[in-house]
This record gives sequence, C-alpha cells and structure tokens, in this order.
Amino acid sequence: MKIAVIGSGYVGLVTGTCFAETGNNVTCIDINENKIKQMKSGIVPIYEPGLDLLFQRNIAEGRLTFTQDLKQGIEGVDIIFLALPTPAGEDGSADLSYILNVAEKLGPLLNKYVVIVDKSTVPVGTAENVRAKIALSAQVEFDVVSNPEFLREGVAIEDFMKPDRVVIGTQSDKVKALMDVLYAPFVRQGNPILYMDERSAELTKYAGNAFLALKISFMNEMANLSELLGANIDHVRLGIGTDSRIGKRFLFPGIGYGGSCFPKDVSALAKMAVTVDYDFKILKSVMEVNSIQKKVLLQKINKYFDNHLYGKSFAIWGLSFKPNTDDIREAPSLEIIQSLLEQGAHVIVFDPEAMRHIESVFGNTIQYAPNPYDALPNTDALLILTEWSEFRTPDFERIKNTMKETVLFDGRNMYDPHYMFINGFHYESIGRPLISKNINQYQNEL
Ligand code: NAD
Repeated sequence: MKIAVIGSGYVGLVTGTCFAETGNNVTCIDINENKIKQMKSGIVPIYEPGLDLLFQRNIAEGRLTFTQDLKQGIEGVDIIFLALPTPAGEDGSADLSYILNVAEKLGPLLNKYVVIVDKSTVPVGTAENVRAKIALSAQVEFDVVSNPEFLREGVAIEDFMKPDRVVIGTQSDKVKALMDVLYAPFVRQGNPILYMDERSAELTKYAGNAFLALKISFMNEMANLSELLGANIDHVRLGIGTDSRIGKRFLFPGIGYGGSCFPKDVSALAKMAVTVDYDFKILKSVMEVNSIQKKVLLQKINKYFDNHLYGKSFAIWGLSFKPNTDDIREAPSLEIIQSLLEQGAHVIVFDPEAMRHIESVFGNTIQYAPNPYDALPNTDALLILTEWSEFRTPDFERIKNTMKETVLFDGRNMYDPHYMFINGFHYESIGRPLISKNINQYQNEL
C-alpha cells in the first residue's frame, strides 16, 4: 500500500517506519524543516531503541521517504495517518488545532478516494469534526477512521510490531477490509483487531491512559501511607501484584507520572466529562495526587536539610520522564530542578539521552556532566529521578568517595534501603522505611 503519515514525532515516525518494514511505501510528512533535513540525511531525530536499524533499512530499500510538502506527500496514497500533537490547551482540554488545520488543508488536495486514519489521541467526536472539515472542500469520497495508538516510548517498536490489540473505530466494511490487510502482519499471533464505532475507539484511548494513571496515583498514595504506618510498599506491592485480578504491572510508586500522554490525557478526559455535565470525581483525585507526588522528593530533601538549600549542591541522575526515551515533556525532573534553583541550590545533571532537551530549558543555570560519576564531586546529595538501567548497580564506593556527603534521595526505589544503610548512605526512597532512623524495625521485618 501507499501510505502518508502526517507528523513525524514519537508516534508518526514509529508508525511510518513499521509500516514500511512490512512492505508498504511510506512518506513521512512534517512541518519541521530541520526534522525533515535530518531524516533525509538518515538521522533519526528522536531517541527510540531499535528505531534506527529499521529506519536505515527501509530508507535504503526505498520504502521510506520524507517531505515537508503536504501535497507531494499525499499524492496517490491509499491511507493518510494523522500523528499530530494534541497538547493540553490552556483550560486542560485537548488542543485540536494541529489536527483541524491539517484537515482543512487536506480537503482541496484529495484527488482520489483515501482513508484518513487518526492516530493522535483526540476527544470523542473528533473523527466527525475532521470529516466535516475535509468535506467542506473535498471533491472526492473519503473515509475518516479512529485508530488510537497505544505504543509506549522506550519500547515503541515492540509495541507497534506486536500490539496487545489494534483498536479501530469505523463502521465501513470497505475500511475494515483495508485495515485487516494493513494490520495483518502485526497480529499474526492472534491478538485482536477490535472494530467499534469511532466514539468508542476515541474514548478507549483515554480510558486506558486514565486507568493506568489511576493505578500510579493509587500506588503513590499507598506508598505515602506505608511510610506513615511503618510498612514497606515493596512488600505491599508484591503482595497485591501476585493477585491475578490486580496484576504486577504499573504498581511501582515514584515521584508522579509525567510524559507527553498521561498528564494531558487525564486532564482532557476530565474536561470531556465536564462538557456533558458529568462529575468524574476519581479523575480529579488522580490529577491532584499526581501534582502532590511530584513534590514528595523535594519535601524529603527540604526536611533533611532543614529548609536550607541555599548554596547546597545537588547531583541529579535521570531527567527523562521515564527510561529509554529522551522525552522530558512533563517530567518530574523539570519541577524538581526549578525548585532547587529557586531555593538557591546548585544543580549538576546527567541523563543518557535527555541532556540536550534539559539544556534547552535550563541553559547555563545548571551544569551538565558527561557521565554519572562526573556529576558527583562536592555534592551534598544525589537525586535519582529516572530509573535508567545503568543506574541500577552503580559503584557505590566510587559514589561515596566522590560526594561531599553520602546522601541519596531515590525517587524510583532503585536500591535496597538496608544495603544502602549498611554501606554508609543516608538513603531515602518512596514508601519504604528510613533505615538510618529505624534499623531495628527494619531488621524485624526481614
Ligand atoms: P510529537 O510532538 O513527538 O510529534 C508530532 C509531530 O507533528 C512533530 O514532529 C511536529 O513537528 C509535527 N507537526 C506539527 N504540526 C504539523 C503539521 N501541520 N504538519 C505536519 N507535521 C506537523 O508527538 P507524539 O508524541 O508523536 O504524539 C502524537 C499524537 O499521538 C498525540 O496525540 C499523542 O497524544 C498521541 N500518542 C503519543 C504517544 C507517545 O508515547 N508519544 C503514544 C500514543 C499516542
């Protein structure tokens, strides 16, 4: 098939590359001139494990091309995917301007039947709006379909190539037949293609993300309660995660969810509820808990240093909102760095992939280390904000010998509190006992 993908970001580029990988001819379109230039010269503009290999292969085999020109990019295609941003607008609802602007431009450019597939996360009713916008100027028949994307940054290729399910909102048999052929290579193990009406497909994406955010906020509150009650969230997590009704995933407490999806999608769903006069109480709590949780590590730091952070020096390991991505959108690191700076602290950071993005936000107000250990000299505390694998078993002796004080605030529960205590660290994490003050209780627990 001949496919165009409009928007070559985390979703669009993975979508385009994976469809090329299964033999389709794909043109990726983007308005960002620099991105198009990079891609044309064989550079992947984002960090996504495994993408580079597929990207290079499909360019070399002539199935993956790039353009800034919408007209040229959609010429003769069977399917147009929209993978455009839908950020939170000022009031928290989804900003549909990117989608609707492109829809408006598409109308006059269509010269044969085409299926327009919305992969962006959009509020219920958007497919109808997009259809209406295009119909204003289109001279040919077309269909608009909702096909929300569930890939996770960091494992996007695996998620796209082997999705748990493909959700497609359409009632057209012609479209279903086309989608069956397009997605057949991705569901060979028998995972379903779920057809439903457009509105349900659009809502499914929000329901999924809101439920996952709810799980995170629930566990974060459980972690906070565990600390107060003298329990250990790690044990509680394993205790409930082994119940198959609950499941093991998404039960790790931390410093709040971030990223380009959960915050904006939970907020957009809450706004959608308001438009139909529904008071979605749980969603409000999920958001409130998350914004409080993003401050939990700062509270621990302030408590430890008696609110005197002025002149103190902090090393930070991990800046992206989660490991294996360079994405810092809504990352807890942003708020934590900002607060440390406002309190007069010095900050030196390291992240394997996200440094250039953080640098574009904080410039020379903070320092950047070329590797984790170079961030440590003369620091009063080390903060772990993203659970990159390379931080899992660091050289603790080297850390101890390099830092001014052996104080570690771990927002991702990377290390065993008992081990850290024995090795001479003041170690604070999320929802687990503070061993330095309470060793007897912890030993009893063991
Ligand atoms: P992104 O910001 O990484 O990429 C969007 C791209 O669209 C950018 O490259 C931008 O330059 C381009 N663009 C903007 N306006 C354009 C226009 N008029 N014409 C052509 N290109 C244009 O966004 P993303 O993370 O890929 O997300 C895209 C959509 O997919 C969003 O709705 C998001 O909620 C959804 N989604 C994202 C993820 C994820 O993990 N990132 C997962 C599932 C769904």
